[in-house]
Amino acid sequence: MTRRKFLAGSMAGGAAIAMAPTKKAFGANLEGFPDGMGVLVDMTRCVGCRSCEAACNKEQNLPEPDKSFDDYSVFDERPHGHYRRPTEKAYTVVNRYDPVDEQPVYRKIQCNHCNEPACLTSCFVNAYTKTPEGAVIYNDKVCVGCRNCMIACPFGIPAYSYSSAINPIIKKCIFCYDTRLKNGQTPACVEACPQQVMVFGKRKELIKIAHDRIRRSPVKYVDQVYGEKEVGGTGWLYLSGVPFQEAGFNISLPSEPIINNVKDFLAIVPMVLAIWPALFTGFHLLATKGKSHGHGDDHSHDGQEEH
Ligand code: SF4
Ligand code: SF4
Ligand code: SF4
Repeated sequence: MTRRKFLAGSMAGGAAIAMAPTKKAFGANLEGFPDGMGVLVDMTRCVGCRSCEAACNKEQNLPEPDKSFDDYSVFDERPHGHYRRPTEKAYTVVNRYDPVDEQPVYRKIQCNHCNEPACLTSCFVNAYTKTPEGAVIYNDKVCVGCRNCMIACPFGIPAYSYSSAINPIIKKCIFCYDTRLKNGQTPACVEACPQQVMVFGKRKELIKIAHDRIRRSPVKYVDQVYGEKEVGGTGWLYLSGVPFQEAGFNISLPSEPIINNVKDFLAIVPMVLAIWPALFTGFHLLATKGKSHGHGDDHSHDGQEEH
């Protein structure tokens, strides 16, 4: 199926797709793929060197940053009054937090590769895929730029390239899926870290390692593994020496997947959802009129290539 035919079908069927939000990703046990991979991030070891940011930039062929990766003035930046977030040009960023009466804490942020991803659930054209290896990837040839995923993600991760005002495409960490994860290799950011902040492995093993570290050093760590339960569990997990909220984590997230909230939302606003996908699909068709190929980087892995 060509992308144009697919999208034309989506225009007609967009409302129906949106009105049938039952694509729960992986059943009721909330474990995703049992042998899926993840990364344990131990923030007590991070020194804020930004080597992981540089490695990601290189691995993903991202543009040169405005400031070099050895410029630590970025830790004082507050774009739009907030700490830095991943963007379409930087799939991971490190921030410094200054807890009261504590040493500064550095935290690496990227897509957490949720077990039951709200981005996937919210996407009416099924641009997203959760792979058995644990990555949440996307097909940017299918993405119509509706930004539902941006709103649905509980961690504020998906970013968009606004090179075209009406035809933005999603950009986010893909767990180095293309170049590494699908071959069983360690992600670039993990490999580059000089402090061994991150451990790459099966998620279920990482949870054991995390609890073991807490048990061995109860004074050093807060007794929680962030991501073990939040929103149904995430592939990337965190250990911290300070309460998680002091390092900018949202501690009010439910342990249930966000999909449940999305379903509730869909149930109460059927009119909006009937119109919204078709509207954005229409914009997309207009914007891509005359183009024969997908735009930007190709992260397509789900067999929906143009033929
Ligand atoms: S962190 Fe956000 S973008 Fe990443 S998988 Fe979860 S919902 Fe999707
Ligand atoms: S896993 Fe890969 S894409 Fe994701 S932040 Fe690390 S280097 Fe970047
Ligand atoms: S490379 Fe390691 S130590 Fe340096 S900022 Fe990234 S996670 Fe922290």
